Amino acid sequence: MVATAPLDIPVIEPSSRVKGFLQSQRQILINGKWQDSSSGKTFAVYNPANGDEIAQVAEGDAEDINQAVAAARKVFDDPNHAWNTMTPSERGKLIWKIGDLILENLDELAELESLDNGKPMGVAKVADVPLSADLFHYMAGWVTKIEGNTIPISVPYAPGAKFHAFTMREPVGVVGQIIPWNFPLLMAAWKLGPVLATGNCVVLKPAEQTPLTALRLGEIIQEAGVPDGVVNIVTGMGETAGAALAAHDDVDKVAFTGSTEVGKMIVNAASGNLKKVTLELGGKSPNIIFKDTDDLEATIAGAASAIFFNHGQCCCAGSRLYVEKDIFDDVIAGVSAAAESIKLGPGLAADTEMGPLVSDEQLNRVTGYMSAGQEAGATCLTGGTRRGDQGYFVSPTVIKNASDDMSIVREEIFGPVVVADPFDDIEEIVARSNDSTYGLAAGIWTNDISKAHRTAARLRAGTVWINCYNIFDAALPFGGYKQSGWGREMGHEVLDLYTETKAVCLGL
Ligand code: ADP
Repeated sequence: MVATAPLDIPVIEPSSRVKGFLQSQRQILINGKWQDSSSGKTFAVYNPANGDEIAQVAEGDAEDINQAVAAARKVFDDPNHAWNTMTPSERGKLIWKIGDLILENLDELAELESLDNGKPMGVAKVADVPLSADLFHYMAGWVTKIEGNTIPISVPYAPGAKFHAFTMREPVGVVGQIIPWNFPLLMAAWKLGPVLATGNCVVLKPAEQTPLTALRLGEIIQEAGVPDGVVNIVTGMGETAGAALAAHDDVDKVAFTGSTEVGKMIVNAASGNLKKVTLELGGKSPNIIFKDTDDLEATIAGAASAIFFNHGQCCCAGSRLYVEKDIFDDVIAGVSAAAESIKLGPGLAADTEMGPLVSDEQLNRVTGYMSAGQEAGATCLTGGTRRGDQGYFVSPTVIKNASDDMSIVREEIFGPVVVADPFDDIEEIVARSNDSTYGLAAGIWTNDISKAHRTAARLRAGTVWINCYNIFDAALPFGGYKQSGWGREMGHEVLDLYTETKAVCLGL
């Protein structure tokens, strides 16, 4: 696709600290040791604002995954290992320290994230990095509260017998975790926080587009004092390192965040040893605005932010905007004006409000959907093209007149593209909202509290935001219905997914 409007991209030098981190080739972490990949291969990581290479990173494959899994297994299977003899209170303090160290290194982590992923550094400073720290702090508190139950049992075939029966929650074992590139540090935190809180050992594979903050987090985890071999980090490609981890016979659970397509591959790969699987996958989330919404201006800003936050590269992006007919024109005019006012630029520039997409591949994917929608007869109100001819920038895009069967309405675009359509009543909009293979999130905007609750109850989605959007908290479980996933991230729900229940029955 041809870029329509030029974009002036200032060149911004990273700080000396970040430059120092990028200078040496970044290695894999196995058993507490940073090492080259077994093949000696590396891969390049790029700045999406201009396509320049910023680092070389070790390219691990199946052999490195084998080594990392063996290291994790060795720790997990040794009852006398420091990780396994540590008291819950001591483990909680270690995890708390990781949160503290993340905050101590906030500026560096935000800069690295911005450079690698393209997101505005200002956003990474107030959202990605503090949320990551908060996740570890939240999980630290849970370590001393992972309890079983005492269960009164009856046993009809043993009349008169007495038993003392109870359950214990034990770690699942060796966990493989595979994460995406849209919130690289935060996704690592969402995954590693609960794995550590529950006493498991882990091999983490970051996304190949954005491995840098996970590697920095590996250093922080070491600095906090987590014993060697508990957290292993193998960078590499999805088809090699990721696939090997998902299929590994000595891995007890795999936790994946990414596309629904790859999620299905993970399920297949995991079937060999029936390892436990949790998945946080794609979405095509409806954002429903009723005409009685309280403050139209705030609602419009909320609808714009629901889709444009993180350049639309959010699995829960409010990408289907449904507006009650009477106010449809006003709302889409407002969202289009908001789209046009967004300042595009490199993540490191202080005034940037939206950075580039993460990669050339994403640029092609998103502009492909923009073209497909227009070719299918939808109307592009604003945007609809690439911006500039360097880096991976696209214009925030608002589309109307799309029919419910078009690919831009049904498929996850993962870019700043919203499809808007009017509706007449609740019955219609609930049915259309639920008419999706996904069920990750939904938004509702109304001043009628009863209508809000009635609608929320009928939406098949793991999260429903009412008069707000994209509100995340370590205490709030997040995950999907239908093909948006299995299980939940965050909250105390996630702890169940990293533990096995052991029932113990003692004859008295
Ligand atoms: P996207 O399409 O948005 O890049 P993916 O679902 O492809 O997202 O990637 C998310 C994560 O899954 C990344 O860490 C990637 O390396 C990994 N991955 C990709 N393909 C596979 C696979 N076949 N097996 C295991 N992991 C994979």
